[in-house]
Amino acid sequence: MGYQQKPGLFIGPKAEQAEAFAGLWRHLLEITIQRRQTRFAVDPEWAPVPVDAELGSAAAVQDALDSLLALLSEEIPTFSPRYLGHMVSDVSVPALLGHMAMLFENANLASREAAIVASSLETEAINLLATMVGFDPHPARGHFTSGGTLANFEAVWRARYRLDHWLALGVCLKLRGHSEAPLFSWAHCGWPVYHREVARHGLNEKDLMEYSGVLRGSLAMSRLVAEQLQEEWPEPVFLVPGNKHYSWPKAANIFGFGREAVWGCELDEGGRLSPEGLLSRVNEAEAAGRPVLMIVSVAGTTELGMIDPVDGVVSLLGRLANERGVHVWHHVDAAYGGYLCSTLRGQGGSELSPSVQRALGAIPQANSVTLDPHKLGFVPYACGAIIVPDAVSYAVSSIHAPYLEETAEAKFPSWSTTLEGSRAATGPSAVWLSARVMPLDAGGHGRLLNQSLQVTRRLYGVIAAVAEDIRMLEPSDSNVICFAVASFGDSLSSANQKTECVIRAFRESAELSATRTQLGCENYGDLICQLVNTWRGDVDAEQLTVVRMVIMNPYLEADYLVEGISKYLTDTLQTALDALPA
Ligand SMILES: *Cc1c(COP(=O)(O)O)cnc(C)c1O
Repeated sequence: MGYQQKPGLFIGPKAEQAEAFAGLWRHLLEITIQRRQTRFAVDPEWAPVPVDAELGSAAAVQDALDSLLALLSEEIPTFSPRYLGHMVSDVSVPALLGHMAMLFENANLASREAAIVASSLETEAINLLATMVGFDPHPARGHFTSGGTLANFEAVWRARYRLDHWLALGVCLKLRGHSEAPLFSWAHCGWPVYHREVARHGLNEKDLMEYSGVLRGSLAMSRLVAEQLQEEWPEPVFLVPGNKHYSWPKAANIFGFGREAVWGCELDEGGRLSPEGLLSRVNEAEAAGRPVLMIVSVAGTTELGMIDPVDGVVSLLGRLANERGVHVWHHVDAAYGGYLCSTLRGQGGSELSPSVQRALGAIPQANSVTLDPHKLGFVPYACGAIIVPDAVSYAVSSIHAPYLEETAEAKFPSWSTTLEGSRAATGPSAVWLSARVMPLDAGGHGRLLNQSLQVTRRLYGVIAAVAEDIRMLEPSDSNVICFAVASFGDSLSSANQKTECVIRAFRESAELSATRTQLGCENYGDLICQLVNTWRGDVDAEQLTVVRMVIMNPYLEADYLVEGISKYLTDTLQTALDALPA
């Protein structure tokens, strides 16, 4: 039996479970009111002093509220199963209640002192998420962020801290005549070598701070290295999949690396990162003397929902470390797909393919992971998380504390170890409550996601059967469906025009939502050539336009609901195809 048949989990697209939800909501309000009524019961009561009859009256508040609600009634109904657009859907009732319960209390997670309960809830929620992705929760560290972009920045901050230490040691040893090795190899030396050399040469924090590019700025370091070592200051690069999610150029920009510091790696014909392509980029970086700040693999690409071969990247990096002593930070951007790991835990099995299961199963070997509970976690915005396997990977160069931070040992983040200052405690409480009701395993949350994967396969077949001119991309590794529109012999540019017409028809029909995405030939060349070849067309454009649908709505469960959506889909597509100019 599916979870959403249980009335407590979702409100329903037609508010079918309104009664259960209203009961829970009333309960939350009652307890919230009661808590205020009984706490400090001896205190005098507050009686609002009337300033003016209208100002702040309940009627005036309701008036304003009604204006807001009227505006919101025009919003895109993402709760409906007709919404197949972006990576968003309805939120679950436990997540919503967890979020709201915290809002009525102390929702500021700036520090342990500021929020006692919220900070221990955060630890518990991070432990739950860490366990879901396969980390040992005891040594794991992490915290909630306002989303995946911020979580990615948190990872960059930590990777940079590590690289900066290793590089500072290299500069120090070379200046003192203890090393001839290139700075590239020091930048990747690994903690055991670092600690050994620091001990052997009796170095302390102060010695190394002198050579920290983070503390002194790369301009100063660049001058110093040029004058005293006759070397170039090694500006690091990011190695990211060729599709380069916009958060990486942003990160480079914010952390002061140039635009050319983000190097795209080759994608295979499925649109996944290719470990061989990655290796050749590492070699190029070494040849250019540019340290690799981090390698990013993506679990659930924004365009196609593909899962990069994290396991392949892990074994490549293992070989680099063992055979060449090159240790590179590996970040898994699992903002979208991280929750799919719930299907791998506990009993029940996973609908994911064996290779995807192997890829997700390798996440615990990475140095850092981004998760977005506000995507497949059905948690209200804004809720992301960064998780790392241990305290060493959690350390950052902080602005107030010593260079070698001790606070990373603590389980709890503090304002100095998070990029954000005040953070919302609503994410932790929403994740915590939701996992209480729907455990993050195949019997709980994973069941919902398994169901989405099944429905995705069904709708894929439905769309493919509408007409010959519908040109399906290979099924995604998760729950995204993409297709183009082309007749036999069409060039890529005329196919793109037809696809755009179909997207416009979706937009104008107001029956169903879908999104549009563009794949550039530069990164998706193999995929595009293969696809265009299926209709014997010419590749005469720089990109392929596709219709993209994300199938994550929890209500697509019973057959008749999937059939209903299938019919809308078929009709909308058929009408759009009929309207295409001949
Ligand atoms: C959504 C997403 C992000 C960005 O997350 P936000 O929560 O929108 O900031 C980053 N990477 C991937 C792969 C994503 O899917």
